Amino acid sequence: MNEIDIDRTPVAKDIITICSRCNLELNHIVVRHNAKGIVDRVKCHTCGFEHKYKPVKKQTATTTKRKSPVRKKSAEKEYEALMEKHIDQAPVPYSMQGSYSDGSFIDHKTFGKGFVTGLSFERIEVLFQDGVKTLAAGKK
Ligand SMILES: [Zn+2]
Repeated sequence: MNEIDIDRTPVAKDIITICSRCNLELNHIVVRHNAKGIVDRVKCHTCGFEHKYKPVKKQTATTTKRKSPVRKKSAEKEYEALMEKHIDQAPVPYSMQGSYSDGSFIDHKTFGKGFVTGLSFERIEVLFQDGVKTLAAGKK
């Protein structure tokens, strides 16, 4: 998911953005697009306030203290720490048929380098730079 996709969310669909009244990242409904087809006005589900859409910046300024991005930040930190630990190691190219163990260092052709953080039947959870993704694994 990237910012361009978020900005082009269709009218009447939900979008997560900062509510200027609640001052929190909340679910909003898209009210209107601008001439470029980018989300322009949104309405907060929580307080009902309609306001201009402000794209959520990935790199939030240090002056704003918000609770919600903390989880993402810690995942990023964890990823960076794991990358440092594995700096001398070559990742294993990811494949659906591959079998992995907890902590396996893998290389996915779309998501890049990642670390296996969870295992279940024919599924692995992998921490990538963008966050955790679930992938198929051990398929026969
Ligand atoms: Zn609100």
